[in-house]
Formats: sequence, structure tokens, C-alpha cells
Amino acid sequence: IFITIEGGEGAGKTTLISRLDKKIYHETGRRTLRTREPGGVPIAESIRKIILDRKNTKMDARTEALLYAAARRQHLVEVVQPAIEQGKVVICDRFVDSSLAYQGYARGLGIEKVWDINRFATEDCMPDITLYLDIDPEVGLARIEANEQREVNRLDLESINFHKMVRDGYREVAKRFPERIKVLDANVDPDTLEDVAWAIMKKKLVK
Ligand code: C5P
Ligand code: MG
Repeated sequence: IFITIEGGEGAGKTTLISRLDKKIYHETGRRTLRTREPGGVPIAESIRKIILDRKNTKMDARTEALLYAAARRQHLVEVVQPAIEQGKVVICDRFVDSSLAYQGYARGLGIEKVWDINRFATEDCMPDITLYLDIDPEVGLARIEANEQREVNRLDLESINFHKMVRDGYREVAKRFPERIKVLDANVDPDTLEDVAWAIMKKKLVK
């Protein structure tokens, strides 16, 4: 089974994934694989460095979209698909929906165009379920600023407006895939978010 967690900056994806990872193993005994995008394997991590490098200020939006799709492809075939075949529960931090929201909507390439290149990259291998953590960007960015360990990347230099566009983009994408994408209010404490997320996951995992 393939689960993805989506959301803007500071939505709490990382915290929720650690919690769900433990919860799934505890409650079902199933092996999990926790991974992230862009990255997760050496080739994709190298691509991630190019995308997020603060020096790469000239990055064209289509170049960016293609690099994300390339990183996604490599990670999918090298890590995600083998784990699914082994019966693991794969929990991935970001996937296609990030590209639809960031490059498709916020960067203005168009959700359809970005969907096309991602269909090529994934051969339509899509998550069984996606949890989108919805948060006001002002709240999310304030959370990030409070977390000093986090390294500043190229995207952190974007305006608040860009992050608002990302949120609108995600909401648009969620409307397109209402069966797959569950919208969760992330403006709550971590325990509450975990409970809400688990209630949804349980239906997929405990039959
Ligand atoms: O998930 P994480 O926060 O580590 O993502 C790294 C950065 O890449 C973030 O700043 C995010 O905004 C950006 N990103 C992006 N387009 C994507 C996926 C991530 O701009 N498709
Ligand atoms: Mg994170």
C-alpha cells in the first residue's frame, strides 16, 4: 500500500509521518517504509540539491518541473515500487500532488501540463491514499521560523504570496482527486492531527 503526505511549509508532515509510521507498525504489525521526495535515493538526492540550491536563482519553471519529475521517477522505481511489492506500507513525504500545487499552480505552468509529465514519470502509479495537511501559510511559516534546525533553501526565499498560491493549488488538486486526497486541518496540535489521520488510515489498513 502506498500513502503520501502533502502540504505546504510548516504543515507538520515530518512529525505526522514519524507518528503514523510507529502507529501503523504498532496497530497492524505491518512493515513500513518511510521515505521522502525529492530525494530518497542518491540520484534523486543529487537532483534535490540542484533544485534547492540557493545559488540557482535562474531556474526556469519547466526545468524545475522536469527535475522534480525525474527525481520522482528514480525514487519510485528504485525504492517505492520494490517496497510495495514486498508488501510494505510505504509512507512518502510529498509526491505528484506537490508538483501539481507548486509547479502547476503556484508557478503557473498549469496543473494539466504538469500532470502530463508526471504521468510519463510515474506510468500512472499513484498513491492509494493521500493526506493533505492544510494550513494557513502565515501559521506554517511561523512554525518553521521557530524551528532553528531547519536549513534555509531556495524555496524559503519565496514570498508569502507564493505560499498562498501553493495552498490554493493544493485545494484545487484535492477537488480533482476527491477519492484519493483527504484534506486535514493542520492547524491543530500533533496528537489531534495524528488521531484524525489514523482514523482515515485505519479504514485502508485494517480490513
Ligand atoms: O518537503 P520539503 O519541505 O523538504 O521540500 C523541500 C522544498 O521543496 C520545500 O521548500 C518545498 O516548498 C519545495 N518543493 C517545491 N516543489 C515541489 C516539491 C517541493 O517547490 N514539487
Ligand atoms: Mg518536512
